Amino acid sequence: MAAVSAAREILRRLHEVMAAKSGAEAKLNQVVQIVATELSSEVASIYLLRDGMLELYATRGLAQAAVHVTRLSMGQGLVGVIAQSREPLNLAEAKAHPDFAYRPETGEDDYHSFAGVPIVRRESAIGVLGVQHREPRDYDEVEIEALQTVAMVLSELIHGAGLVDDSQAAQARAASSEPMRLPGLKLVDGLGRGLAVFHQPRVIIEHTVADDTEAERQRVYSAFGRMREQIDAMMGQAEFVGGGDHHDVLDTYKMFAYDEGWSRRINEAIDTGLTAEAAIERVQARNRVRMRSIDDPYLRERLTDLDDLSNRLLRIVSGQLGTAAQLGLRDDTILIARNLGPAELLEYDKRYLKGVVLEEGSLTAHVIIVARAMGVPVLGRVRGLFAEVSEGDELIVDAGNGALLVRPQAAMITSYKAMSVLKAKQAEKFAAVRDLPAISKDGRRVAIMMNAGLADDAQALELTGADGIGLFRTEFQFLVSATLPRRERQQALYRAVLDAADTRPVVFRTIDIGGDKAVPYLLDGSAQEENPAMGWRALRLALGRPALMKIQARALLEAGAGRTLNVMFPMVSEPWEFAEAKALVEAQRALLTRQGHALPAHVRYGAMIEVPALIETLDTLLPMTDFVSVGTNDLTQFLFAADRANPRLADRYDWMSPAILRVLRRIVVTAKAAGVPATICGEMGGRPLEALALMALGVDTLSITPAGVGPIKAMVRSAALEPLSAAMAEWLDSPGVDVRAALLAAARAQGVELG
Ligand code: PEP
Ligand code: MG
Repeated sequence: MAAVSAAREILRRLHEVMAAKSGAEAKLNQVVQIVATELSSEVASIYLLRDGMLELYATRGLAQAAVHVTRLSMGQGLVGVIAQSREPLNLAEAKAHPDFAYRPETGEDDYHSFAGVPIVRRESAIGVLGVQHREPRDYDEVEIEALQTVAMVLSELIHGAGLVDDSQAAQARAASSEPMRLPGLKLVDGLGRGLAVFHQPRVIIEHTVADDTEAERQRVYSAFGRMREQIDAMMGQAEFVGGGDHHDVLDTYKMFAYDEGWSRRINEAIDTGLTAEAAIERVQARNRVRMRSIDDPYLRERLTDLDDLSNRLLRIVSGQLGTAAQLGLRDDTILIARNLGPAELLEYDKRYLKGVVLEEGSLTAHVIIVARAMGVPVLGRVRGLFAEVSEGDELIVDAGNGALLVRPQAAMITSYKAMSVLKAKQAEKFAAVRDLPAISKDGRRVAIMMNAGLADDAQALELTGADGIGLFRTEFQFLVSATLPRRERQQALYRAVLDAADTRPVVFRTIDIGGDKAVPYLLDGSAQEENPAMGWRALRLALGRPALMKIQARALLEAGAGRTLNVMFPMVSEPWEFAEAKALVEAQRALLTRQGHALPAHVRYGAMIEVPALIETLDTLLPMTDFVSVGTNDLTQFLFAADRANPRLADRYDWMSPAILRVLRRIVVTAKAAGVPATICGEMGGRPLEALALMALGVDTLSITPAGVGPIKAMVRSAALEPLSAAMAEWLDSPGVDVRAALLAAARAQGVELG
């Protein structure tokens, strides 16, 4: 309690200083007086970062002649070490520290002990506050905490007076921090460079000293209440922010959210006179110091969770709830998040978004499909991301090599530039095959179509030379809208896509909402589903809300006037669902005909095969359809009972496993016998070896991510498919063959270009 009252006394006096009319320099002089008195120290000094150097700015106890004269660079002397590490130092014998730098002009010869803390703003050190004693002594925790509290107030004062340039401080921090390489999992290939921006920005604390302690207590109390509600709601859902099994994290969140110790420490900090924000930050800073000293990776991770939760609490209490997308991007950006939903990603300005790095993430989650469509490289499952990267750090995402380069050195940047040139050369090579057909060496013509969903995706048709759009995910328009897109808007989009495609076919898939593609304005009770991927989604939702489907059908029919319209239904589980959906569109067609509207010359209907049950009833389904398309993303998740959005299962099952290849073969053979064209439109077809396997199974049309069109075309043109088909048949009929290895060997023997 004595500690609390001492801290309170310091803050009370600081409050007076802050409120006074005097100039900034005079205020800093008063602060060193207060610190020295309250901590009974002979010396108290403030150093500020000016022109990249830490300059002695105010002192009690050191020679006044040294003020504005003594300057140390980042990392130089004890003060430089504190600023660089952004951690306190507590030394009984300052001179014994290897980084001690003697400055005769200060007259500090008589002092033995030293304690200092960084003054931080926006994660960068803008100065250092230090005390010195004649007698050699260790400072106790309460004294260090008192210094940290004063440092927070100083940060506000210094910023308010404009004594330090924030962006210079960020540069100094980045320049003096170690470069590092964090490994991760390639989710979308590519290379990008930019500055780190957190999807959920760190809260900037504007006021540290409270006017009314009771009011601050109330604010924290209600923020805790709201945070607990949020966590409970998250626990109630199987997924949160984009999906996956987050139960470990959520359990920890819940534990901390209800932890009495945490809220008590925050309240104690408020009792000393801090605002709610400053108190949370105060406790968080202490937690961060603890985090750095812990070796156990499990415990460290739990403390990272607490850090995350502190940020959440800060956002709630400060009302700074917006994402970085809402604040707007200004420079080339690498976006940092724990996880993201597809709609959240779509909010970002594509011009500045050069890469995404996730602490979680899995290959076939929709956010990854969206990123791929946007052409943004994504690296996932980067451990230690939040501990090692600060807002504004320079980053290079090298997804192809599974690496995030943090604060890269000049040599790394040079090699990044060389790699970019190489990639551009590769792209040129693909551009060379752009206008050539995908014909294999032994004369088989394959159609390489592309997947799309965003308005400007259609431009990629020209760039890639794709044979058409084999899957247009119409739900993307719904995901980017805050409200239900009206029929006119839907129709305008479809028409623009058809215009861009000109004579090339476009397959429009009716909305596939639900699962990890949550659209708030369309969800009724389904937000609470335990297994949304297997829940009220796609065609189920569309048939359950026929008004929605009718509007979309009309928009499609109107947009397709005078042309061939291809309509495809997602997540068909039983043939009757297809029949019902088709009848619904046909009814709209009849209505529009009666009303005298111009209509498509032909309407072709297709079903997506993504639910295993449908494969058993193909004999009933196929005669009703004009085409079918296999969605391997969903089909594999259901075949293997493995959530496609769960990072833990991301690479557990191989698309080249006999289970999948046999099922696909069965579909291809059955459809061929029925005379119904069958295509593949999941992510699987965008990978060269997997695409080769599909062609060996007899697939003639793929619809893939635009970036895959060039490489897959080059692959096809370098392969002789016939011998591979024969080999594939054999491998699939002999149990135990590692098809991936066997096909790779055969492809290499043929000299197939696998990228
Ligand atoms: C699929 O499931 O494979 C597919 C193409 O559809 P989506 O990825 O949009 O679910
Ligand atoms: Mg699907």
